[in-house]
Amino acid sequence: MNEYEAVLRPIAGAALHLNAPLARYTVARLGGPADALIIADSVALLERAARTAWLHGWPVRIIGGGANILVADSGVRGVVILNRADGVQQDESGLLIAESGAALISLARLSLERGLAGLAWAIGIPGTLGGAVVNNAGAYGGEVAQCLLWAEIAEPEQPTRRWTCAELAYAYRESALKRRQAPFAVLRAALQLQPKADPVALRAEAEQYSAHRRRTQPNGASLGSMFKNPPNDYAGRLIEAAGLKGARVGGVIISPQHANWFINTGNGTAADYLALIRLAQRRVFEQFGVQLELEVELIGDFEHVGR
Ligand SMILES: Cc1cc2nc3c(=O)[nH]c(=O)nc-3n(C[C@H](O)[C@H](O)[C@H](O)COP(=O)(O)OP(=O)(O)OC[C@H]3O[C@@H](n4cnc5c(N)ncnc54)[C@H](O)[C@@H]3O)c2cc1C
Repeated sequence: MNEYEAVLRPIAGAALHLNAPLARYTVARLGGPADALIIADSVALLERAARTAWLHGWPVRIIGGGANILVADSGVRGVVILNRADGVQQDESGLLIAESGAALISLARLSLERGLAGLAWAIGIPGTLGGAVVNNAGAYGGEVAQCLLWAEIAEPEQPTRRWTCAELAYAYRESALKRRQAPFAVLRAALQLQPKADPVALRAEAEQYSAHRRRTQPNGASLGSMFKNPPNDYAGRLIEAAGLKGARVGGVIISPQHANWFINTGNGTAADYLALIRLAQRRVFEQFGVQLELEVELIGDFEHVGR
């Protein structure tokens, strides 16, 4: 019996999987195994598993929809917790309190149905509320920072507490959590939306965003935007101007439709992604002097991938 089995099985039961492939839990459909994977369908299990692993000094990675991570082909050492805790409550004042594994798209749909204004922008953003809180997800002029009231966060050796929006220090696709080296787990979050909005108008607004995505987003397994847009410019424009639209390494291609989207055509690997990322960064820097910064996060051991 290995140490993860001995410690985590009594807590997680059948929700613990050893040496578990992560590809099926990521939107890009690739990535190697986690030493220990816990599929947490409650906040209680999420918190307990994280605290236990922290106590043992094991590396812990919580993943939501896997929509903004590139998992190394060699996988992730330590414990990965897949967050599927997705309960939601709402009150008359438009306050929406959700567990962090709730899908952002489901919350957006719910807001439209219930006439709550302020979340229509999220209608096409894959992943969970937890991932959105960490990344300050946003689109079409909206972002988490505009509606988040608090996030309930667990940290090692601290009582779980609510962080205010100000404490999260949000910026463009950034937060105090994203920059943080120390471990943490987002358990729940409260979004303040405006009640009594017209559902028909909200649905029309959301439909505009969906139609725009259908027109502009490439099909296929991808991670959305690979790089952040540099100030006053677009990463996609720069990659295209560097002549890289359609460039391919192994099974991964820079979308001929939108150069900031890298598509896994079926048999792509994380190493293929990384080679294309480096190619785009190098060419754009050589030609335009701009250092493209990843929006997507690299998870696991990428050190030994050939350069
Ligand atoms: C097709 C497509 C379109 C996209 N469009 C947009 C867009 O318009 N706007 C936008 O902002 N993003 C977009 N994205 C990126 C992605 O959807 C967002 O970044 C999303 O918020 C990621 O959420 P997730 O649950 O998948 O996070 P994951 O990818 O699972 O994790 C992201 C990070 O958050 C951490 N994390 C996740 N949950 C928790 C938790 N509960 N506690 C602690 N840490 C946690 C992870 O450890 C990791 O560091 C797009 C992605 C795709 C594939």
